[in-house]
Amino acid sequence: MDTPGTAANPLRVAVVGAGPSGFYAAEALLKSGQNVRVDMIERLPAPFGLVRYGVAPDHPKLKEAILVYSVIARLPHFDLLGNVTVGRDLKVDELRANYHGVIFACGAETDRHLGIPGEDLPGSHTATEFVAWYNGHPDYRERSFDLSAEVVVIVGQGNVAADVCRVLAKSVDELKTTDIAEHSLNALAASRVREIHVIGRRSAAQAKFTNKELKELGELPSCDAIVDPQDMQLNAESLAELEIKSNYVSAKNVEIFRSFAARGPTGKPRRIFFHFLESPVAIKGNARIEQLVLARNRLEGVPMQQVARESGETKLLRCALLFRSIGYSGVPIPGVPFDARRGVFPTQDGRIVEGGAVITGLYAAGWIKRGPTGIIGTNRADSIATVKSLLADLPHLAPEAKAGAEGLKPLLMARRVRAVSLDDWLKIDAAEVARGQPKGKPREKFTRVAEMLKCLDGS
Ligand code: NAP
Repeated sequence: MDTPGTAANPLRVAVVGAGPSGFYAAEALLKSGQNVRVDMIERLPAPFGLVRYGVAPDHPKLKEAILVYSVIARLPHFDLLGNVTVGRDLKVDELRANYHGVIFACGAETDRHLGIPGEDLPGSHTATEFVAWYNGHPDYRERSFDLSAEVVVIVGQGNVAADVCRVLAKSVDELKTTDIAEHSLNALAASRVREIHVIGRRSAAQAKFTNKELKELGELPSCDAIVDPQDMQLNAESLAELEIKSNYVSAKNVEIFRSFAARGPTGKPRRIFFHFLESPVAIKGNARIEQLVLARNRLEGVPMQQVARESGETKLLRCALLFRSIGYSGVPIPGVPFDARRGVFPTQDGRIVEGGAVITGLYAAGWIKRGPTGIIGTNRADSIATVKSLLADLPHLAPEAKAGAEGLKPLLMARRVRAVSLDDWLKIDAAEVARGQPKGKPREKFTRVAEMLKCLDGS
């Protein structure tokens, strides 16, 4: 047989995961000039991963990436196999038998842990849970959060913390015409949250917010952003960091924090308090969380490599609801090597490796390859690089013709898995948009898998 990629032997690739990196990988393959067929396998009936279930509902511009992915999905030789979980409904070996190459673009599905006592007390949640809940993710549909709490803590100072902060800080009127899930909007309508404390273990100069996201927290109509002016006295190493040209985002962040400190409270009903140089060391409570123990930190190390070290001083912060927003982590899939320390699939140039040796035909792209960093667009170059490796490997991939989705369908039927095709998804999509229209929302998402399948099969 010919090297895959010809009319006689089309290159068949399975892309696992229908988020940004999966779509960018599919696009790079379908526009490579090779004769390629791409099947995208996604565990939910709905595609678009974190753009649908992670991007905050009040940031509709970021969700416009979906328009780009919808164009990619309509390219010839692309298909979707939604509602199919690799590792459960299909084994990785079954994918390898039916495709020349498999690209894992399955993201980072879980959160990192703080590893402190009381972390699992009721009332202590991961940011992922809350984000997925307000975005209507079916896995989180039944979660509930005690929004009768007046004081909420968010641990971490990255953009996910900023998203959680805004959703808690905004009024229902500010959210009701977004695509926020109805059940969350109803719960937020009864929210009694007044104070949101956002905890950073390092100083204002090391906060991970991007400028736009931080600035927005100071411009909320019904919430003040509060910074203690004393916290703006930075150490010499942090001041040196701000002079580094490539560190311009942090320099601008410090400028924004200084403006919050100079303005002080203006009497709005809700308030965000930024804390710096503090680390949670324990969460206390009986039946549920009542207090957070915070250790005061100092910074050690040279500029750009400063780490937080506890100084021995602690303080208590009363709170009844807490979100840990300290970064995501990938989860393993049976049959694929996993680096548990970094929460990624180990790779070299996008090729999955085990014990330093490349596993022919297995690749990774996006967060499961490089870890949870960067904005949506960062994944494009990442996926293109992985596809470049795959295309360079063509002479070494299995030379025989592969069946692709046709080879998987009998397996899925025997296992009673209702795969959702691209046409099926378009029906679900249209139904969601129609449900949103009377409410002035871009869509009202189905928040249960059964509801999505009912929309297709009627039962
Ligand atoms: P992130 O940007 O990596 O921020 C994580 C935060 O948690 C940092 O402040 C980090 O502090 C802190 N942290 C980590 N371990 C900690 C510990 N043990 N104790 C206390 N604090 C700890 O992660 P993220 O917010 O989850 O965002 C992930 C990626 O998605 C980022 O690239 C982000 O920009 C992107 N994103 C973008 C948008 C947007 O564009 N609007 C929205 C959401 C997410 P240290 O710096 O000290 O480690």
